[in-house]
Amino acid sequence: MRQGLKTMREKTLLVQSGRPAGGIPHSVNPPVVRASTVLFPTVEAMQETRRRRETGEQVFSYGVRGTPTTHALEDAVTALEQGERTLIYPSGLAALSAVLLSHARPGDHIAVIDTVYPPVRQLCSSYLVPRGVEVSYFAPSPEGLKAVLRPQTSLILAETPGSGSFEVVDIPALAAIAQKNGSRLAVDNTWAAGFFLKPLTQGADISIQAATKYICGHSDTMLGTVTVRGDAFTPLFETTTMLGLCASPTDCYDALKGLRTLEVRLRRHEQSALQVAGWLAQRADVSEVYHPALEDSPGHSIWRRDFTGSSGLFAFALSPQLVEHSAAFVNALAHFGIGASWGGFESLALPVKPGPIRAAAPWAGPDTIIRLHIGLEDTQDLIEDLDQAFSRIGALA
Ligand SMILES: *Cc1c(COP(=O)(O)O)cnc(C)c1O
Repeated sequence: MRQGLKTMREKTLLVQSGRPAGGIPHSVNPPVVRASTVLFPTVEAMQETRRRRETGEQVFSYGVRGTPTTHALEDAVTALEQGERTLIYPSGLAALSAVLLSHARPGDHIAVIDTVYPPVRQLCSSYLVPRGVEVSYFAPSPEGLKAVLRPQTSLILAETPGSGSFEVVDIPALAAIAQKNGSRLAVDNTWAAGFFLKPLTQGADISIQAATKYICGHSDTMLGTVTVRGDAFTPLFETTTMLGLCASPTDCYDALKGLRTLEVRLRRHEQSALQVAGWLAQRADVSEVYHPALEDSPGHSIWRRDFTGSSGLFAFALSPQLVEHSAAFVNALAHFGIGASWGGFESLALPVKPGPIRAAAPWAGPDTIIRLHIGLEDTQDLIEDLDQAFSRIGALA
């Protein structure tokens, strides 16, 4: 980046960050540098690089520690999340695992939000608990956290809104509780894509993303990011190094490309999702729309205070007499794919059962809700598609 203006607004930052330095002619994005071996001119130069590397410095020393492409993505995500350092992982789940493994030692207690990305429960029950870490799940509220907090709680893991049922949690309040207790607060920031929410400026220590979703944005790449501030970096860096976790530089390149258009894609996902959610909300055959940007949704006031927008993922429930036809409704859709994940350019629909996975507070809503990811198609086509699916299941009732 050429020297000049010191401050940038966010859209400019997404375009400028992690770009090659000026001077000699260069490509717009950093090149894909693929490496296991990195060559040095002398033994001393190699030793010096390794010494700097052990202090946590971002240096090109060996493929597993990242190449200049990885480092460019790290810098760009650090700028997006307004943190101090970022590390890149081969998936969002690997990013979550690295955070848990680096901040939970035998004898520690961790508190995990009840709306957490479900595979995290498996990591807790099958790996952490047998190794002497105690795990509690908390209802998504400050009171829920207080009810399980202990003096030895090392880590609190939250997600907001929950990516299955969309409860918004008060991050500044959780951060205040964490700080008072000497615990670190980590937030899964995937729904907001690091763009609509900045947990690290609201008191969290760690912000995690499945970059697989909106940052990569094309449903063809797996990647995770962890951005930290303060002393949360050292344990994360040590664990990541120890486990040999690294992501493909080719995938990092794709993520950097995705970042350049993140804002325009997110704004379109946002507008289209709001349009579809509004259309659903006024239907008699819909009992509930779970979207924090809707004014009468439970977490709306916190969402309005802490977020700058909303993404394309939300859910709704069919009316009680139709809810048993939720799967048939999804099967009847033509423009919505049926599949895991989200955040790509295409629309998806999936029946979700929030009840069975809740541990802290029972799920009070209907047995099945339908999660939608609103893609970049024409919204009118999506609404017409939903409309014909309502007609089809209406005939079943
Ligand atoms: C998808 C997802 C993950 C996991 O990401 P992968 O890249 O699929 O491993 C983690 N958290 C949330 C909220 C997600 O939606």
